[in-house]
Amino acid sequence: MIPPGATIGILGGGQLGRMTALAAAELGYSCHIFAPEPDSPAFAVARYTCASYSDEAALDAFADQVDVVTVEFENIPVAALERLSRNRPVRPGPNVLAVAQDRLAEKRFLSAHGFPVTAFRAVRSAEEAQEAAYALGPRVVLKTRRFGYDGRGQRTIASAEEARGAFEALGGGELVLEAFVPFTREISVITARRADGARASFPPVENHHQHHILKQTIAPAPISSSLAQEAVALAEAIAERLEVVGLLAVEMFVAPGDRLLVNELAPRPHNSGHWTQDACPVSQFQQLVRAICDLPLGDPRPFAAAVMENLLGDEVQRWPQLLAEPGARLHLYGKREVRSGRKMGHVTRLRWDEPIEFRR
Ligand code: AMP
Repeated sequence: MIPPGATIGILGGGQLGRMTALAAAELGYSCHIFAPEPDSPAFAVARYTCASYSDEAALDAFADQVDVVTVEFENIPVAALERLSRNRPVRPGPNVLAVAQDRLAEKRFLSAHGFPVTAFRAVRSAEEAQEAAYALGPRVVLKTRRFGYDGRGQRTIASAEEARGAFEALGGGELVLEAFVPFTREISVITARRADGARASFPPVENHHQHHILKQTIAPAPISSSLAQEAVALAEAIAERLEVVGLLAVEMFVAPGDRLLVNELAPRPHNSGHWTQDACPVSQFQQLVRAICDLPLGDPRPFAAAVMENLLGDEVQRWPQLLAEPGARLHLYGKREVRSGRKMGHVTRLRWDEPIEFRR
C-alpha cells in the first residue's frame, strides 16, 4: 500500500491532473506534476517539473521524488513511461498507454479479444482508403492513429469517392477507416481497478458533443438497467484484459437494437466523470488515487442524478451568474488564455427530482 503522506507523480499538467492533485490532497497525499507546457493548469496546485517527456535526467529526478506515477493524458511517449517504471510503479503501465494512444492498436486489441467495435481497416494509401470505404461504407469515418481527441484528426465521409481526398487531408501515413455507426446515444463508463483486481464502476452516463467536443454529460444515462449493466460489464472486462491499474474510461455507442460498440478507451480520469465530484461519495479523481495506492475503492453509487456542462471558450465569462445560481457547482481550471472550444471549467447541477435508476 502507498499510504497517505506519500507523493503521487502525475504525467500531464491539464485540468485532469489539477483535479487529481486536489483530490489527492484531500486524502493527505502530495502530488508532483511533470509536464512540458509552462502554463500547465496543474502547476498552480502542486509541485512540478516543467520539462520535455524525452528529458531523461528530468524523468529520473522526478522518479526520485515520487512514490508512484500515474497519467492524466494518454499521449505520453511510451519510452518515458518505460524509463520511469524501472524505478517506480507506473499505474496504468506503459503497455496500457501503448494501446490507448494508438487508435489502430486499440481497435485491434478490442476486436482480438472479442469486444464489440464497428468494422474497421488500416489504410496506407488513398487507393486503400477508397477500397475500404467501398467495403465498409457508404458512410465511413477516417481517423489518424495518434493524437486524435476532441474531434481532431478525423473526417466523416458520405461516399467512397471522398475517401481519397480525406486521406490526403489527414496527412496520409497509416490511418484507420471505420464504418459510421448510426448511434442512438453515446455513453461512457468509468471503471476503477486495483492491482489485485478489485474494481468499482460509476454508472454509465450519456454524452452530448458540440463540434466533437464534450458539451454535456447526463448522469446516470437514461437507459434500461439491463443495458447499463451490460455497459459496466463490458468496461470491467476490458479493464481486466488490459490489466489497467487506475481508471479506464470506455466510450461506447448505443447502436440500433441497443447494441453496444466500443469507440474509445482512455486510461485516466475522463471529462464524462466530472459529475462524480458533486454527486457521488467518491469522485473519479479520488478513486484514481485509491486505485493506484492500493486503498479500498470508494462507493461509486451516486446519491443524486446530475448534469455536467462544460464551459468552452468564452462561456467561462458566465462565472458570476453561475456562482449566483443556487445549486450550481462551479469548477474553474485557472486557464489564463481563453480560446474558442477550449475547456475552461465546468458546472454540475444535481437533479434531486430524478430517480437514480441504476444501482450496482
Ligand atoms: P473519437 O475521437 O473517436 O472519440 O470521435 C469523436 C466523436 O466523433 C464521437 O464521440 C462520435 O460522436 C463521432 N464518431 C467517431 N467515430 C464514429 C463512428 N464510427 N460512427 C459515428 N460517429 C463517430
